This record gives sequence, structure tokens and C-alpha cells, in this order.
Amino acid sequence: MSYDDVEIEDMEWNEEMQAFTYPCPCGDLFQIIKKNLKMGQEIARCSSCSLYITVIYNLEDFQGRPPPPPQKKTGPPKGTTTLITVA
Ligand SMILES: [Zn+2]
Repeated sequence: MSYDDVEIEDMEWNEEMQAFTYPCPCGDLFQIIKKNLKMGQEIARCSSCSLYITVIYNLEDFQGRPPPPPQKKTGPPKGTTTLITVA
């Protein structure tokens, strides 16, 4: 059984670890990386003890957003070749 159920809003985002963290009673942090959340994983573990928490979140928030399409580079129009007609 998990130590607690914690909503993702109550967790803290750690940019360095690319993970959500939540204070563990042992003094360390429960942590779950974003990649795991995307895969539907909802257990955040503490690396210092055997406790873990269940993360309450909406899976769609992590899956439903496809990356924005790459911006097409619109270069300058191709140089118009001026025909020089020699009379
Ligand atoms: Zn702990």
C-alpha cells in the first residue's frame, strides 16, 4: 500500500531531474519522472527508503499534446532572373 495519495498539483516540479517531487517523511523526496507519468506510471518512490506514494493526475494532460509542428522555413523568394535581351 502506498504511503499517501498526492495530487500532481501538490507536487513540485524539478527541472534538473525532469521529475515531480514530494517530501518524504524520511527527509528525502518521493520522485517520479515525467516520462513515467506519460506512460501511465503513477507511483513516485523515495530513493532513500521503501515508501512510495500514488500520484493523482490526469494522464491526458501528459499524453494529449502532440509537439507543435516544425515551423516551415520560408526563405526569401527565389531570385527572379531578369532576362537581358540584347538587341
Ligand atoms: Zn523516504
